[in-house]
Amino acid sequence: MSVLSVKNLQKSFDNLRVLKDISLSVTSGEIVSIIGSSGSGKSTLLRCLNRLELIDSGEITVDGDTMVSTENDKVKYAESPVLKQIRMKTGLVFQNFNLFPHYNVLRNITEAPIHVAGISRTEAEAKAYELLDKLGLTDKAESFPYQLSGGQSQRVSIARALALNPKILFFDEPTSALDPELTGEVLKVIRSLKSLNMTMVIVTHEMSFAREISNRMIFMDEGVIVEDTTPEELFNSANERTKAFLGKFH
Ligand code: ADP
Ligand code: MG
Repeated sequence: MSVLSVKNLQKSFDNLRVLKDISLSVTSGEIVSIIGSSGSGKSTLLRCLNRLELIDSGEITVDGDTMVSTENDKVKYAESPVLKQIRMKTGLVFQNFNLFPHYNVLRNITEAPIHVAGISRTEAEAKAYELLDKLGLTDKAESFPYQLSGGQSQRVSIARALALNPKILFFDEPTSALDPELTGEVLKVIRSLKSLNMTMVIVTHEMSFAREISNRMIFMDEGVIVEDTTPEELFNSANERTKAFLGKFH
């Protein structure tokens, strides 16, 4: 069953065409990594998927809810039920954590469930404690982001993304801001989500991790999907652009 389907997505910033006719789909339980050079459009793609960016054309379907671009895109989707559904069904984990600095860990996690999903505080906090327990952060519930290490911050942001029981999680370079010794603890969490059958799209430069964890890997270059295939085939690709990119990691 398809959890995410993207058809002919186009996105420009002024005259810069950043996403040129992107189509892809992700089925339930699948883990898809997206790799590619800086500036190839990976973050923009993830941001378009839950409408942190407006799209110029194309169609995005998450778990049966579809958004198409229209001339009045901004007006049409600004407060629409379909956008709310898509936001609730997707979780996004950013490179720089993006925690609310003035809220403690517990409130970072319960904010969206309470204010977006309309879940009671009691229920939202119970779920938050359950997630903190799973992620080994129970003693950090009352801490503020500045009191956390990078690895702890990223685990809190993963807990926050999981709080709405999303159908799919998007990670945008989740370990790029971390020291090597903290990277492992975040990768371990992602592995544990795999064992729970979480559907995930992961933008990463951690090539060996991507190879190990992914069912499929997508190589993006200059706003297009150059290859969308198995890790094995990607790492043995005959494509010149793919080889040139992967060559940088040896
Ligand atoms: P990646 O994540 O693969 O490094 P990005 O999606 O961040 O790539 O960026 C793709 C291109 O779009 C880059 O040239 C970047 O400068 C440009 N870009 C990204 N966001 C904006 C924006 N808000 N306004 C203008 N240009 C942007
Ligand atoms: Mg990026």
